[in-house]
Amino acid sequence: MEHQNANESIKCTVSQCRYHLNGENYCSLDCIRVGTHEADPTTPACVDCNSFVKRTEC
Ligand code: SF4
Repeated sequence: MEHQNANESIKCTVSQCRYHLNGENYCSLDCIRVGTHEADPTTPACVDCNSFVKRTEC
């Protein structure tokens, strides 16, 4: 995988994501897409990072 740099404007703790920096709780993307799976979101649990991609080993 290419070298990844922390985007200090995007804090993230989702270590299962391929864009997450291990050891640093930051995203490595320049920008992310955020959305919701609810018709009427009311809590943080209602929204999602739609840029998430599951990390694969290898
Ligand atoms: S893409 Fe989303 S889930 Fe993945 S590291 Fe960035 S902010 Fe976190």
